[in-house]
Amino acid sequence: MLVKILTNQRGPVMFFVRGAQRKGFKMAADILPFTHGQYVGLFNDDGLSYIVSAGETHQYQGIVNDLDRNAYATYLLDLVNQAFKEGVGISGWYQQISTALDLINQGRDPQIITNVLEVQLLNLLGIAPQWDRCVICGNDQGPFDYSESYGGILCRQHWALDEHRFRLDQRTISYLRLFAHLNLAKVGQVSVADPIRKQLTWALDKIYDDQIGMRLKSKRFLREMDHWTAELKKSRDQIDKPT
Ligand SMILES: [Zn+2]
Repeated sequence: MLVKILTNQRGPVMFFVRGAQRKGFKMAADILPFTHGQYVGLFNDDGLSYIVSAGETHQYQGIVNDLDRNAYATYLLDLVNQAFKEGVGISGWYQQISTALDLINQGRDPQIITNVLEVQLLNLLGIAPQWDRCVICGNDQGPFDYSESYGGILCRQHWALDEHRFRLDQRTISYLRLFAHLNLAKVGQVSVADPIRKQLTWALDKIYDDQIGMRLKSKRFLREMDHWTAELKKSRDQIDKPT
């Protein structure tokens, strides 16, 4: 069986696991999706890499047993897989990504955790938006807005330069600027109001669509899930209303 594992030394690596289809295979639990642990194996630059044993493995139960968390974690790992070349060390990123999975597993807002990584991974995906100050004049005092054509934020004096600027709420802009430098290991509870959550999704989806041209199946599934959740809520509200 071929199993892809995100490793700290070499990023995402495809491993060959011998005998995985056999009944009573001793590493069966170690290679389940959303499992983390210590794996011993052989990296092979020219051919298949192998895993020979595993220890201290734990499956993220909070992710496996919850559709919403599962969908976000799947998309997050899909994104990570796109952002890192196989075989290249990912240094500090490994910690940030595993903290993200820990937090989603614990039940922290999976959308917000994913949004943080979406903002940060833009740098590896070929566009590095300027979030700190106005792209044109360097002003670091808001209000700001995001411009795709200028690749970063514009201060109010320069909004006129881009008629297609995003017209984001200042709270959305603040979160995007915060996310760009956020160390998830040091984050307390973050609670984001619903309209701002929606705008964050809209802005990041648009940047990924327009500027990177990335359309992942796992992202499409997330959006379909949002749609059905909203439909379900609507029909529930109708049932609750007295006639
Ligand atoms: Zn400016």
